[in-house]
Amino acid sequence: MPLRFGSLRLSLIAFGPYGPEELFGLAVIIFLLRPETTTNVPRMPEYPDIIVYLERLQPRVKGQVLERVRLASPFLLRTVDPPLGAVEGKNVQDLRRLGKRIVFCLEQDLFLVLHLMIAGRLHWKERGALPENRPGGLRLAPAELSHSGHEAGAKRKPPRRPIWSAAFDFPSGTLTLTEAGTKKRASLHLLRGEHALAELNPGGLEVLEADEATFRNALLRENHTLKRALTDPRLFSGIGNAYSDEILHGAGLSPLALTQRLSQEEIGKLFESARRTLLDWAERLRRVAGDGFPEGVTAFREGMAVHGRYGKPCPVCGSAIQRIIYAENETNYCPRCQTGGKLLADRSMSRLLKNDWPRTIEEWELAKKPTTTIPNTLRK
Ligand SMILES: [Zn+2]
Repeated sequence: MPLRFGSLRLSLIAFGPYGPEELFGLAVIIFLLRPETTTNVPRMPEYPDIIVYLERLQPRVKGQVLERVRLASPFLLRTVDPPLGAVEGKNVQDLRRLGKRIVFCLEQDLFLVLHLMIAGRLHWKERGALPENRPGGLRLAPAELSHSGHEAGAKRKPPRRPIWSAAFDFPSGTLTLTEAGTKKRASLHLLRGEHALAELNPGGLEVLEADEATFRNALLRENHTLKRALTDPRLFSGIGNAYSDEILHGAGLSPLALTQRLSQEEIGKLFESARRTLLDWAERLRRVAGDGFPEGVTAFREGMAVHGRYGKPCPVCGSAIQRIIYAENETNYCPRCQTGGKLLADRSMSRLLKNDWPRTIEEWELAKKPTTTIPNTLRK
């Protein structure tokens, strides 16, 4: 059909009012012709997002007593022992990042580990402020009832669907977890002891703490496409679908290049790009958050070069950004900067992806333990 969105709008203006059926038909056509971009798809928080959450949480909860944890759904909590009640009244001694997870280190060797997965987001609320909805099962602390009595006695209609999953009450305020969509995948683990915490660590390398030789060892541990290697939490920590796209564009490398075929120079470029991308984006997100608690840290940003920018011009060369779709995700790349002008989205490439990529990035995140430790020497 030769009509485009622009011409449809022009004809609407030119030919005056339409009846409801015509307008409905036009709406359907406009919907079908909408630009294909992925800008509204939620994405999993990665290193830069998590680090900014942690930095803003630190002054708010470190040294504070975790008074209570309220769960909207029992499915969020993935452990049974110790019981969740064990954290109540415990002091938060420190906060840590474990890959893409946030760890509250509490007194008595207790670790509360939160994984936001794709759709989980954190918000900081005034102390005593109840979440906007109260699904069944929520326990209200007596203190909350007394100083917000109107809410305790409220006879509101039940909410259409829970918009929050958990609330963590501190004397300084309440941290809430929301999870959009119907697939609730965020998880909470309560563990006792460093050993139990280590079990949850996928074991990936912290790129910002590594030198180039260590990075190379991790990269060449297995022979995979770069996209898979970078997003595998057993190999690299805190890198997911979005920043791997940006790292690969920064390095001028194809997402489908095989790790063990890279030259020393290419590995050097990849290492530099990974460091630069993670540091640069953490800094940008800090600036966006200011002194406040970060909201919308994972929103797609115009500043991204390729990720979420299918069809838009590459900021370096102006070529239209391309994509490869697999399962629930897609990877974006610039054909001129990264693949020598080659488009990768043909059928044979899709087959290669099926064989070499996880069905979803989430599968990586669900991996609990590294299958092997990183060797010091390269494996041939
Ligand atoms: Zn380009």
